[in-house]
Amino acid sequence: MIKLIAQQIASLRLEIEKYNQHYYQLDKPLVTDAEYDRKLRELRQLEQKNPELPQENSPTQTVGSTALSSFTKVTHEVAMLSLDNVFSGEEMNEFIERINNRLKRVVKLKFCVEPKLDGLAISLLYENSILIRAATRGDGAIGEDVTLNVKTIKNIPHKLIGEHIPARLEVRGEVVMPTAAFEKFNQTAIANDAKAFVNPRNAAAGSLRQLDSSITATRPLAFYSYGVGIIEQGELANSHYQRLQQLKSWGLPLTNEVQLKEGAKGCLDYYQYLLEKRSDLTYEIDGIVYKIDDIDLQEELGFVARAPRWAIAHKFPAQEEHTTLLDVEFQVGRTGAITPVAILQPVFVGGVTVSRASLHNADEIKRLNIKITDTVIIRRAADVIPQIVKVQSSNPEISKNIIFPDVCPVCQSEIERIEDEAIARCTGGLYCAAQRKEAIKYFSSRKAMNIDGLGEKVAEQLVDEELINTPADLFNLTSEQLIPLERMGAKKAENLLFAIENSKQTHLAKFILALGIREVGEATAKNLAQHFLTLSAIQEASTEELLKVDDVGEIVAKHIRAFFKQVHNQEVIQALLNAGIHWPALQKQAGHELPLQDRTFVLTGTLVQMDRLEAKQALEALGAKVSGSVSKKTNYLVAGEAAGSKLTKAQNLGVEILSEENLLLLLQKRDS
Ligand code: NAD
Repeated sequence: MIKLIAQQIASLRLEIEKYNQHYYQLDKPLVTDAEYDRKLRELRQLEQKNPELPQENSPTQTVGSTALSSFTKVTHEVAMLSLDNVFSGEEMNEFIERINNRLKRVVKLKFCVEPKLDGLAISLLYENSILIRAATRGDGAIGEDVTLNVKTIKNIPHKLIGEHIPARLEVRGEVVMPTAAFEKFNQTAIANDAKAFVNPRNAAAGSLRQLDSSITATRPLAFYSYGVGIIEQGELANSHYQRLQQLKSWGLPLTNEVQLKEGAKGCLDYYQYLLEKRSDLTYEIDGIVYKIDDIDLQEELGFVARAPRWAIAHKFPAQEEHTTLLDVEFQVGRTGAITPVAILQPVFVGGVTVSRASLHNADEIKRLNIKITDTVIIRRAADVIPQIVKVQSSNPEISKNIIFPDVCPVCQSEIERIEDEAIARCTGGLYCAAQRKEAIKYFSSRKAMNIDGLGEKVAEQLVDEELINTPADLFNLTSEQLIPLERMGAKKAENLLFAIENSKQTHLAKFILALGIREVGEATAKNLAQHFLTLSAIQEASTEELLKVDDVGEIVAKHIRAFFKQVHNQEVIQALLNAGIHWPALQKQAGHELPLQDRTFVLTGTLVQMDRLEAKQALEALGAKVSGSVSKKTNYLVAGEAAGSKLTKAQNLGVEILSEENLLLLLQKRDS
């Protein structure tokens, strides 16, 4: 039995050491902190139950990991230790009990309470007030010299200013990447296809432990003090809290959250206070540190192998956990945007159980290289929606690719994805149940069909009560259906029906706008109506024809074509027309028509008074089309000197031939 336990302990130690190496040396954690903490606890419990087994060199007794050989090594004159943890109020009471037992008396304990910053521990050595060296914690005894990198951090003073500063003073604190800077850094990294960091701690550690300090200089890092190491030729206050205030007065950054509290109750109240304030802080914290304030008591209590007895970290619920991606669902938003949503094995993270997380779009799926059945890391920072930050592991034998659907999962209309646009959308705008409310609100809005009394609230009521599915159903509503609706009544219902009836008399441009085609606003709708004159001409227009309309580019043309191609949309349009929607017939606006509109010219031979390009531009300015070859559709051939085969062909086809002089006359006449 004991052999089995010894084996279990040995394999846990090996596993944890591997995690330590990846986390501390390479800044590339293999598992979440929560998973790491569980393993370490398991090991500690096994060791405690079996004290006869050797304990030395166990990761439960050591700090961090060996310094990297690529950095110059620094031996810490005062060891840089870690902290023991508690996870509950009960454990906090036990901690206080342990202290009292050790002191062999009951003391009214005063604690300096501080946020537990989630970054990287740093030692700053000041000699005669000048920063002469900065080092990482390493394994607690030997750290890495990162002076040049640390000097690039803007809020670290290179010189301390004030009175009674010890001649040799080692300040300890945490280097962090502030949350906003972290978000921005990751957004830029993702946009540039570079690697994003999993969390701000990882970002701070990865940024500081760079061999090239010019890289660190570009990273938005900040430092906050939380203690001291060496104090020589000078004295500091006898209270930890006062010492921190002294550091602050000499120019060292301190968070605004450091306070003095009494007993377990004071500490636990502060825990609650900061837990609630967590999302408002500008830096990430993973818990609270309670430290006995009296330095004499601290010295009396001393240290165990890896942590002081006079301080304890009270951890917040983990913000990162691993779980399994069970499936991916595709949700259709109010404007038709299709969002892939990860269905997860439920997992407790950041204080809540998470079972779904947005995967945003196809690009994000590609970026994460994520597959169904993968083990993924979920992050839920305070008050922020859960996010899949990366794939922890994937099993190629069972994993399944995530297939983006071709048709809308709600209405089966086609899905459109415009190149260079991350978002895929359902094209069944008028019909799709997911887009119903939005479509009806837009349809009846003032600038579209202008149905008075049909605002956002009523549109939602009509859809929620299932009185209408598409805008066409508006025209079948009855007062019996409307009157029972909340805050409606007979008078309002009558007015609404009257407004609906009235809206049938409209304009083509308003009707086009009311259809809610993506990116077709008021101006484009007007241009489409003016250009094509009839609805059927717009519905049937090819991309080339659409492109001739002012304001219509490739993308808008695609949206228009995709919209009218949908059978469902065609059916709703037909139903609207059947309901009696009509508009005055349009004619080409006289003033609008250009003199050579619809006339096709071909230029050939050498022109003397103007070159071909000038002639082409002048003709086009008058609305003409200038083509490169002669056909039956050609109206005029302009024949310059030495005209060849085109002239012959035009003559054969009976096309009217113009000389250069004729052309000039035509241009002058039309121009004036
Ligand atoms: P720790 O982070 O639990 O606590 C000690 C550290 O807290 C100090 O070194 C200091 O840097 C920091 N700290 C922040 N605010 C402080 C304050 N106000 N006062 C004093 N110290 C403060 O201990 P650790 O040894 O640095 O790291 C252990 C933790 O790191 C684990 O609990 C785990 O969450 C994580 N870890 C994760 C992995 C992984 O693979 N995911 C591997 C190793 C460690």
